[in-house]
Amino acid sequence: MNFDHQMPLDPFADDPNDPASFLTEDEPVEPISDEERAAIERDLALVKDFRRVLEPRGVRGIVFFCEDCEIYHYFDWAILAANMRATLRETVSPVHEPGAQPDVDAYVTWDYALGYIDGVRGI
Ligand SMILES: [Zn+2]
Repeated sequence: MNFDHQMPLDPFADDPNDPASFLTEDEPVEPISDEERAAIERDLALVKDFRRVLEPRGVRGIVFFCEDCEIYHYFDWAILAANMRATLRETVSPVHEPGAQPDVDAYVTWDYALGYIDGVRGI
């Protein structure tokens, strides 16, 4: 079934910069800018700090609310770091891979982790 003929003409039909093209899943990964690279490297360093401080306290990783899936995603420290390294290499990272029944109490938000290590550093 195809309803395309009922739709208004796509104003971006022949436009290679069609904004909708950014929404498709199988697009090649966009090259990351120097700023993005620096930000990811900073986050990767933070993940190492978070893990060092929080893992001995039973925290296994970070939980993010995902706007796309409208659910929470749980990332173990190792997966988080692997995703960031994949982004730095400009390869696709499986960020939407669902975890197998995560122990939700063992994950904290990024902001919580950030506040926690700031608190530890402040001592
Ligand atoms: Zn998602």
